[in-house]
Amino acid sequence: MKILIVEDSRSNLLLLTQYVRHFGATVLPAENGAAAIATYARERPDLVLLDVVLPDIDGFEVARRIRGMESNGDWTPIIFLSSLGKDEDIEQGIVAGGDDYLHKPVSEVVLGAKVRAMERLIQMRGSLVKLASKLDHANQELQRLSASDGLTGIANRRYFDDHIAREWRRARRNSSSLALMMCDVDHFKKFNDTYGHQSGDECLRRVAGAIATSLDRGSDMAARYGGEEFVVVLSETSLGGALIVAEKIRHAVHALRIPHSASSHSRVTLSIGLAAAVPQRDDSCASLIAAADRALYEAKNNGRDRVFRAPPLAAN
Ligand code: GH3
Ligand code: MG
Ligand code: MG
Ligand code: MG
Repeated sequence: MKILIVEDSRSNLLLLTQYVRHFGATVLPAENGAAAIATYARERPDLVLLDVVLPDIDGFEVARRIRGMESNGDWTPIIFLSSLGKDEDIEQGIVAGGDDYLHKPVSEVVLGAKVRAMERLIQMRGSLVKLASKLDHANQELQRLSASDGLTGIANRRYFDDHIAREWRRARRNSSSLALMMCDVDHFKKFNDTYGHQSGDECLRRVAGAIATSLDRGSDMAARYGGEEFVVVLSETSLGGALIVAEKIRHAVHALRIPHSASSHSRVTLSIGLAAAVPQRDDSCASLIAAADRALYEAKNNGRDRVFRAPPLAAN
């Protein structure tokens, strides 16, 4: 333990140094306020014993400056040592950022007891800080889990619902185009029936991966909508721009070359319904989702393994 002792009287400093060394701590001495602040900044001691009356700035000011130097969440116990013993002096010391106040002359036994008490506080505080950091990590992990789909690892339906509502409002503010893709694996029931549910799960993981890796912009977002359906939200993207991404995704799923003997395409394919809109004052993102859904239905009806674009939304 490093203890900064700030005391302008040489004899007192020597005595305190002896006491502190007796209980095994390292002493950093300072004989005035400026030296105390410099030593604090350089050494970051574990505890400060601080005389109030000093030749330059007083101990209260030193305490205030030390508190000002502590970074967020840091805490160094400060014990004032003074022959000023009025109630107001003690109050002023605590207000200035001190943690305890001892009257001079200080006995070795009392000083030892106070230092031990502070050590205990430091340890308890350390455990609390560790616990808080663990909680913080747990919270982050919880947040990540509550936003992601357990099977595929991409965003889940809950995250998508929030995201599209947010992006819809943003697009309305900026009068920009928001594009939405509804993707559905073709003949997936037959895939499960042919290869089993576990192969079906693996297939969904790979399809999700192909969709996610087809997106270039940080603002693009893919989520599992449910079952074998996926959604992709493209902010600030026109229908034409979204069509390019949709074809890229369709090809990426083709390129997985996942055999599907029960499909006329003989491999796993994706149908995609596409819609885009510049949101108007009164409509909601439900209209965009419904339009993408209808387009998906058309893609299915027109032979699957294709992208179908929705006509412009009625409200626009
Ligand atoms: P279509 O081409 O018209 O989309 O036909 P489909 O068979 O893909 O569509 P349908 O909606 O009839 O079937 C979807 C299948 O997806 C049925 C369901 O068992 C399967 N499925 C949904 N979620 C999962 C999952 O998490 N894992 C697996 N293995 N299968 C799933
Ligand atoms: Mg003094
Ligand atoms: Mg489906
Ligand atoms: Mg399907």
